[in-house]
Amino acid sequence: MKILRTIAETRAARHALDERCRVGFVPTMGALHEGHLSLVRAAKEQCDIVAASIFVNPTQFGPAEDFNKYPRTFEHDCELLEKEGVDLVFAPAPQEMYPKEPVTWVTVESLSDKLCGRSRPGHFRGVTTVVSKLFHIVEPDVAFFGQKDAAQLAIIRRMTKDLNFPVDIVGCPIVREADGLAMSSRNTYLSPEERKRALALYHCLLEMKKQFGNGEADCAKLIAAGKEVILQESSIRLDYLEIVDADTLDSLQSVTGNALAAVAAFAGNTRLIDNAFLVSA
Ligand code: AMP
Repeated sequence: MKILRTIAETRAARHALDERCRVGFVPTMGALHEGHLSLVRAAKEQCDIVAASIFVNPTQFGPAEDFNKYPRTFEHDCELLEKEGVDLVFAPAPQEMYPKEPVTWVTVESLSDKLCGRSRPGHFRGVTTVVSKLFHIVEPDVAFFGQKDAAQLAIIRRMTKDLNFPVDIVGCPIVREADGLAMSSRNTYLSPEERKRALALYHCLLEMKKQFGNGEADCAKLIAAGKEVILQESSIRLDYLEIVDADTLDSLQSVTGNALAAVAAFAGNTRLIDNAFLVSA
């Protein structure tokens, strides 16, 4: 497995590949867990060469967010990627990606202000800008993203389409802990007590799915039922709970085939997200 630190090295490694190779790409911020590895495994299955990136992208963190304390476990991440058979890892320093304060941005308008974009202004602009840069540097044929970050996936799909990136976007299902908590690098911030309480996010989504299964299709009523589950955990502070169209991220009044229930909430100081399609595939 080649570890590449510069853009020039990465471009050279990419261009040295046989042009018939299908290159799969898994962008990450490191602190890898089974969720990330599921994307790598999907890439291994569908592609000849797998490239991953490990880059804690400063432009997607707000000034009061956790950029400095975000977990960094580079050596361990590389061991995991090597075991999965990854071919290339692009792991640049911030200075390599942003030698100057950026003034050029890629923004997917309107979608970027919804769900997490509403509570984290500028977050998705940072994501779409860095993913555009990574696509230009790695030049993948296919890129793999987790459904865990549902708004990010919708926004990347739209950006790829609107800007004609020659990249297929593949969404991969959410990987959960045995009790249902969605895996996240930020779960390491949780105290044992917060970890228990954090399950309220998953339980709230299950309740909404259950009520939908029992015939309730009115989104306001489903949201009220989900909120009740969160409110029972007094230590969990809700940021949002919405039912949206998974492609446009627009709020829905009643459940359609593409309806996604999406939740964000704080357990202590840790902001967690989760989501579920209401209509099972
Ligand atoms: P991150 O390192 O948090 O930026 O995540 C990198 C990629 O892994 C993104 O496409 C995430 O959506 C995906 N990912 C993170 N957690 C999970 C999970 N629990 N299940 C599936 N994909 C995930």
